[in-house]
Amino acid sequence: MAMSKLKLTAALADVPVKPAHPPPIFVFPKWDFGKKVVQRSSQADWFTAWPWLHYRSTDDVVFCHVCITAMKHKGMKQSRGDSSFTNVGFKNWKDATISFRDHQSSVTHKTALQLVVDIPVLYPDVGEMISTGHAKEKRDSRQCLLKILSNVAFLARQGLAFRGDGDESNSNFLQLLKLRGLDDPRIPEWIAKKANKYTSHDIQDELLKVMAITVLRKIFTDLAAVRYFCIMCDECTDAANREKLVVCVRWVDSYLEAHEEFIGLYLLET
Ligand SMILES: [Zn+2]
Repeated sequence: MAMSKLKLTAALADVPVKPAHPPPIFVFPKWDFGKKVVQRSSQADWFTAWPWLHYRSTDDVVFCHVCITAMKHKGMKQSRGDSSFTNVGFKNWKDATISFRDHQSSVTHKTALQLVVDIPVLYPDVGEMISTGHAKEKRDSRQCLLKILSNVAFLARQGLAFRGDGDESNSNFLQLLKLRGLDDPRIPEWIAKKANKYTSHDIQDELLKVMAITVLRKIFTDLAAVRYFCIMCDECTDAANREKLVVCVRWVDSYLEAHEEFIGLYLLET
């Protein structure tokens, strides 16, 4: 117990502002694994696939930089389940990619990420210091923006059209927002505003792009953890007689489960 406390203190004390990654040309130490002894080592491409990995070369272990930063600067408590990434240091290279993926989707890691990227509480908004009403306005605006974001996610998820047929007031996007306004009085007030509503087509498109990039990033993180994958492409013609290329990827993960993901639909130059 005393030993783990000592190491925890060392891991937290050493944490730099950015995670330490090994240099491009680096010979990782090899260790024996399993009954039929197989030598394994850390891999350079893991640090690209999981940028939160923090490498300590003195004893060849990795930590989660996000979690130890949240523990050191945001007072997050040590979690038992993920102690190898925050306390003793992880070095089970045999099942590393599975453990990295599990840790990244763990509640501990997601909580730490929220704490680390949150606005620092030490520096309040200038408007907030001048007027107490400003804090409420900011809170309400944030909630309305989150409602708009979930509106976009819902319509995209269901494959529904966003815009109306000529008359914008009949668009699915606005009607859905009005419907949600029946449960939240802040929304009708928000819609009645003349500016800064974040409901325009441009904002909708931008939010969709950010969501699409997030999905792609998740797919590519999964792909980075496998050795082989295939790219499937097929051409099709849309209603306007334009040629389009559909791109998908297919791979089998370490649990032998097959995955097939859609990457994009690209208009071909004629
Ligand atoms: Zn973490």
